[in-house]
Amino acid sequence: QDDPIPTVIFPNGAKVPALGQGTWAMGEDAGHAKTEIESLKAGIDLGMTLIDTAEMYGDGGAEEIVGQAIRGRHDEIFLVSKVYPWNASLKGTVEACEHSLERLGTDRIDLYLLHWRGNYPLAETVAAFEMLKDAGKIGAWGVSNFDTDDMEELLKVPDGVNVAANQVLYNLSRRGIEFDLLPWCQSRGIPVMAYSPIEQGHILHNAELIRIAKAYQATPAQLALAFLLERDGVIVIPKTSNAERVRENRDCISLDITDEDWQALDAAFPPPARKKPLEML
Ligand code: NDP
Repeated sequence: QDDPIPTVIFPNGAKVPALGQGTWAMGEDAGHAKTEIESLKAGIDLGMTLIDTAEMYGDGGAEEIVGQAIRGRHDEIFLVSKVYPWNASLKGTVEACEHSLERLGTDRIDLYLLHWRGNYPLAETVAAFEMLKDAGKIGAWGVSNFDTDDMEELLKVPDGVNVAANQVLYNLSRRGIEFDLLPWCQSRGIPVMAYSPIEQGHILHNAELIRIAKAYQATPAQLALAFLLERDGVIVIPKTSNAERVRENRDCISLDITDEDWQALDAAFPPPARKKPLEML
């Protein structure tokens, strides 16, 4: 029996697993479709029912892959997708959402995000998000790659307070948000979605990460994910197109790391001592 995945609650009451699945780089090559769909399905079977995608990924191809993976089981899934900033006008946002829904083969996206800040006024994008919510096409809306000052600005536009999440780059090697953005979101009950949680694989060669993981018969990826899951209100969305790695990532839940080892990890990946501008990939 697997240990249950901890949950995070959105402002609208939706309760989601804190460990979900990313989809960047899926849907780019038809020859990989089968393994991508299988890995997503394996994750769903293991309780990783939050799936993060975007109109950007595979130029819509990732949303089609997700659509196939969730066919017949939409009710189990918490679906997240994103609009390009250059589509985020009043009309463009609604149209982009409708195209995403078609590719996903569903009539509702649970959380719809502005992928990063662009040139359209925040008030306009928010108005479009609110229209989509009223029409039942999305359950909630949020943002991505917003730093603390962007969030402050967002709260000042009409209905900006309805922001339900901020998805940002966060992993052991990118801890800048711990200084201000993470506590800012936590204190307001706005979940933070940690993207690139294993830095796209680049942190897995760190000697200290490997050493500590080994002491728990765990992999570096598992320890890196467990580090993020320690934090309140953080949703972690590793991407893998490999069903064995889905299992491996899922099993990070069972890790019980001592304070001493968390401190050793802090020494190897120091937390921020001052404000750093938000990094993005
Ligand atoms: P991740 O940190 O999730 O790393 C993904 C890479 O690591 C893939 O190459 C994968 O390869 C590999 N990998 C996954 N699990 C393991 C494992 N256990 N051991 C070894 N290698 C592993 O990077 P992503 O950038 O994909 O971030 C996750 C998700 O966050 C994205 O897929 C996307 O949904 C979202 N995102 C959002 C952004 C935004 O601007 N809002 C920006 C970037 C990401 P393989 O598939 O071959 O297993």
